[in-house]
Amino acid sequence: MMSVSENLLGNVFGIYLARATDEEILKRKVASGGAVTALLAYALEKGLIDGVVTAKRTEGLEGQAVVARTREELLETAGNKWSIVPFASRMKAKIEEEGLKNVAVVCLPCQAQFFGQMRDFPLLESDFGERIKYIVSLFCIGTFAFEAFLNYLRMKHSIMAQDIKDIVLKGDFLEIYHGDSVLSLQIKEVYSYLQAGCLVCTDYTGTWSDISAGFVESEKGWTVLITRNLKAEELVKSAEKDGYIELRDGSHVIGDVLKAAREKLARAQKNMMYLL
Ligand code: SF4
Repeated sequence: MMSVSENLLGNVFGIYLARATDEEILKRKVASGGAVTALLAYALEKGLIDGVVTAKRTEGLEGQAVVARTREELLETAGNKWSIVPFASRMKAKIEEEGLKNVAVVCLPCQAQFFGQMRDFPLLESDFGERIKYIVSLFCIGTFAFEAFLNYLRMKHSIMAQDIKDIVLKGDFLEIYHGDSVLSLQIKEVYSYLQAGCLVCTDYTGTWSDISAGFVESEKGWTVLITRNLKAEELVKSAEKDGYIELRDGSHVIGDVLKAAREKLARAQKNMMYLL
């Protein structure tokens, strides 16, 4: 167990750099290392879970919540998530329709808080927290109010929603992959298109999750994984032992993660002052 404990990052049991070993996953997730996909494929194939609830990008920035039951279905959900997808009602319906007993949910920090509180402190009989085995939160700086952002891309840069292939955060820049081109935008330039709630959000990694995942500029091609409890630690270590992921110690990147978390906190504090 690691002794690193920093309030801003929540409970840190272990921090690793991980990479999928499966060529197909790596091919599709070169930038991020594909460790989340590999971990979830492991959990599905070993029968630890019977489904993964996650978001799948549809067109432009829009997405929908889907349940993946196989490695192939997981791969179809590839891509960065830049709009918030309403999970809870869809997830409850899917779990009940498909009789799922143990699911993993891949979500954003604000959603991880909702699912974590529902699981750990159930209030209503209609809660379905006992069926959530793993909460995996992706690092998040914000999601876009996508109609306004798409309008800006169309008006200022002549980029149409249907031409956007991916949006990737690289340092202080947002890269918009569209058609055969890439547009690089300073992140500051597009802050005003983030959801209002994101501007005052203080959680970068998803402190209510079992596993947080993201990446840092200094370790391209690797996924940063933060395990928050023994259950998560066991999943990560078993996936490594069975050859689904490569694992390295990630203690040296905790400073990079903290830096991003502090920047998000500072942004929230500044924006809160305007609201008070
Ligand atoms: S910035 Fe916060 S509120 Fe916005 S999507 Fe990310 S976790 Fe949710």
